[in-house]
Amino acid sequence: MAKPIVAIVGRPNVGKSTLFNRLAGKRIAIIEDTPGVTRDRIYCESEWLGHKFTLIDTGGIEPESEDIILQQMRKQAEIAIETSDVILFMVDGKEGLTPADTEVAEMLRKTRKPVVLVVNKVDNLNLEANAFEFYNLGIGDPVTISASSGLGLGDMLDEIIKHFKDEEDDDSQDAEIKVAIIGKPNAGKSSLLNRLSGEERSIVSDIPGTTRDAIDSYVIIGEDKFLFIDTAGIRRKSKVKEDVERYSVLRAIAAVERADVCLVMIDGTEGITEQDEKIAGLAHEAGKGVIIVVNKWDAVEKDDKTMNEFSKTIRNKLSFISYAPIAFISAKTGQKIPKMIELIKHVASQHALRIKTGVLNEVISEAVMMKQPPIEKGKALKIYYATQVSTKPPTFVFFVNDSEIVHFSYERYLENQLRQHFGLDGTPVRLIFRPKK
Ligand code: GDP
Ligand code: GDP
Repeated sequence: MAKPIVAIVGRPNVGKSTLFNRLAGKRIAIIEDTPGVTRDRIYCESEWLGHKFTLIDTGGIEPESEDIILQQMRKQAEIAIETSDVILFMVDGKEGLTPADTEVAEMLRKTRKPVVLVVNKVDNLNLEANAFEFYNLGIGDPVTISASSGLGLGDMLDEIIKHFKDEEDDDSQDAEIKVAIIGKPNAGKSSLLNRLSGEERSIVSDIPGTTRDAIDSYVIIGEDKFLFIDTAGIRRKSKVKEDVERYSVLRAIAAVERADVCLVMIDGTEGITEQDEKIAGLAHEAGKGVIIVVNKWDAVEKDDKTMNEFSKTIRNKLSFISYAPIAFISAKTGQKIPKMIELIKHVASQHALRIKTGVLNEVISEAVMMKQPPIEKGKALKIYYATQVSTKPPTFVFFVNDSEIVHFSYERYLENQLRQHFGLDGTPVRLIFRPKK
């Protein structure tokens, strides 16, 4: 099920980060061995009344002058329109309506995406009247909040989740495998997509304010249907490197969220970079199937050792996705692409794998017999039984005597045992430990 994406758009200093931090609460996952992505807080997972969603902050770096602010806000609005399900447009109730607000509102009015207008810094009821002038923006009733005190957040969240599509709808057994091709610019994503879909796709012109929903490509190969989710988006040159990276990450987040399998595309002529690590981290954290695709293999000077050495470097730098298979391809010549397609099918089936409770518990008790859990805090961990609670990714609940004493290394051991017996190639797995009362 694809989690909805909510994007915050607004001028600098209206309170976007304050709101972001409040909604993220303690839920920002700091997963030790996933690099980069979680630390710079571009996105977080949030939840309201059982509705899970991904919140993204489109705010870039702090611009210095008025015209740069405008330029940046246009970009923010575009990215929000392109990637999100609901747009949260934030304005400043203390400062009042500004020309930049009006301009952005105009862009947002043109999209079909729902927009929730939020007036921040309404710290008490006496300030409610400050919200009236924002009716002039023509994007509906403003919701007043105070991000710093938390006032009004409940009403705001009610308004947001109202716009979520029926979450049960897309949980059906889809016939097609959804694939996101992610990677840094120039890795060869569009080339691969073009080759797979066998046609040059039209590129939408770069007119400011034009909306552009992601263009997905349905491709039938043999008996199988694939949906390739586009992440290329509008190509735009920006002088600010941080912005370019931020926006390409935000795009990738949106695509990953909808995918079953992510192809993490690496430029074989360049080797692995920090940005590759970040992008791979997105797929891993989102719990998607992952295949590392090394592209441009035709252009790499190689002997019989090159592939092995490249693989070693990958395992080293992307150690947090050691479960992901590696494919060496050339989008240009078509080399090894049929093999990659087989791999996508395999990983998709592993990602959706369901293991019967009986077999699962046989494997677990055998694993425990071979290697007893270490004593933690003077206590021995006891595992009573395990059961798989969901797929995509496969998620297992272990009922234990004390969930506080599960050592990280033992958890890893259990995961490896599961992988040894059941495969689970290319998919993250989640282990949850619950005390049995
Ligand atoms: P961003 O640039 O949009 O991310 O804005 P920040 O979240 O960094 O906030 C800008 C300033 O506004 C900070 O000094 C915040 O403390 C302040 N601020 C944020 N929310 C509120 C609020 O609800 N009321 C008041 N009075 N100030 C706020
Ligand atoms: P994207 O930004 O990730 O979508 O990358 P593109 O598909 O636009 O490709 C970037 C550049 O790499 C283009 O000049 C392509 O012709 C080139 N390229 C893409 N795939 C291959 C490949 O397999 N081999 C070689 N030699 N060049 C490639």
